Amino acid sequence: MISLEHVSKRYGKVKSDEAPALDDINLNINPRELVVIVGSSGSGKSTLLKMITREELPDKGKIIVGGIDYDTLARKHIPHLRRRIGVVFQDFKLLPDRTVYENVAFALEIAGHTNAETKNIVPRVLDLVGLLDKMNKLPAQLSGGEKQRVAIARSVARQPRILIADEPTGNLDNRNTWEIVDLVKKINDLGTTVLFTTHNLEIVHRLNARTVRIEDGRLVADVPRGKVVK
Ligand code: ADP
Ligand code: MG
Repeated sequence: MISLEHVSKRYGKVKSDEAPALDDINLNINPRELVVIVGSSGSGKSTLLKMITREELPDKGKIIVGGIDYDTLARKHIPHLRRRIGVVFQDFKLLPDRTVYENVAFALEIAGHTNAETKNIVPRVLDLVGLLDKMNKLPAQLSGGEKQRVAIARSVARQPRILIADEPTGNLDNRNTWEIVDLVKKINDLGTTVLFTTHNLEIVHRLNARTVRIEDGRLVADVPRGKVVK
């Protein structure tokens, strides 16, 4: 479903002597897999995810996602690709002047859903993330964990095949962190391929999933589910 072969990426000048952000990454992810990407700050986790969302281009290597070979991907098809990939970030990126309901509905409208579809889908995804009772609240009236749940509802509303969560718990306290970790697991159980980055080993253990470790842009370990990650 996701395949990276010999992918390297350097920001700025290709020929500078700065270390590359990604250095010869090989990674294959199967449909419905949950993969944790662990590594310290600056190790290249976000850059790796940006290879998959096509936010950044690799200098070298081959990327194929859901059968789409990025070498032959026309610019006009990028929006279509992005609709198949939901993304959530550490800082939620909610619209502050819209309610919970409207934040999710807005994403569906942009994606071309009709009003009737939107009215049907929004309550269902808010129920999934446990926020039906907060649908008329503004983001400022929510806890951090609730905000992240809105962001997750918004990104899964379009039923993406892949959910990318880039340090989704980075701004959350412990209780909210476990809430989000459990929700992401649930979304994976429902059939979505999930990539989850973190630098927190406790989260790695709780997720109990295949874990890929990145150090200085290199993939240094790929630990299958069930084995202890150190
Ligand atoms: P992580 O997500 O693991 O913290 P990143 O992928 O954000 O790591 O960064 C990897 C390396 O690339 C770091 O050295 C970082 O400073 C550099 N980097 C990331 N984004 C940019 C950018 N837009 N321009 C220049 N350098 C960048
Ligand atoms: Mg990052």
